[in-house]
Amino acid sequence: MNNASCPLCQPTPHVILWQDNFCRVVLINDVNYPAYCRVELLAHVKEMSDLPPQQRAQMMKVVFAVETAIREIFNPDKINLASLGNKTPHIHWHVIPRFENDMHFPNSHWGEAQRESHNKALDEQTKKVLTEKITALIECALNPS
Ligand SMILES: [Zn+2]
Repeated sequence: MNNASCPLCQPTPHVILWQDNFCRVVLINDVNYPAYCRVELLAHVKEMSDLPPQQRAQMMKVVFAVETAIREIFNPDKINLASLGNKTPHIHWHVIPRFENDMHFPNSHWGEAQRESHNKALDEQTKKVLTEKITALIECALNPS
């Protein structure tokens, strides 16, 4: 199932916040967007509609759990969810907390910069809180009792 030329099929260079045998949540560590996370399917599959419905739902439960954790901890003005994959046709969802004073707002974070960034990387304590919140919300979403 792996594709040798696909970066998402390789071991990730990013910090893994959560992972099971289906997908992983990584912290991108973008200095301008310190809480920017990505949910990456482990298998090399191009489109969401290539997955059976149950796996589509499973992927989105993880994405929404990450979104919820980020909202609770960072209280962003907006969440941007993005799934493009033109360069890397392997299912992954960008989960980007946006603030009205961030570098590109109201443009996409790939768009034209509007101002300088004054962010810094997450400290270890915040990373720990984010990891714990994401883990709790994903496990609750995947294993409703
Ligand atoms: Zn891949």
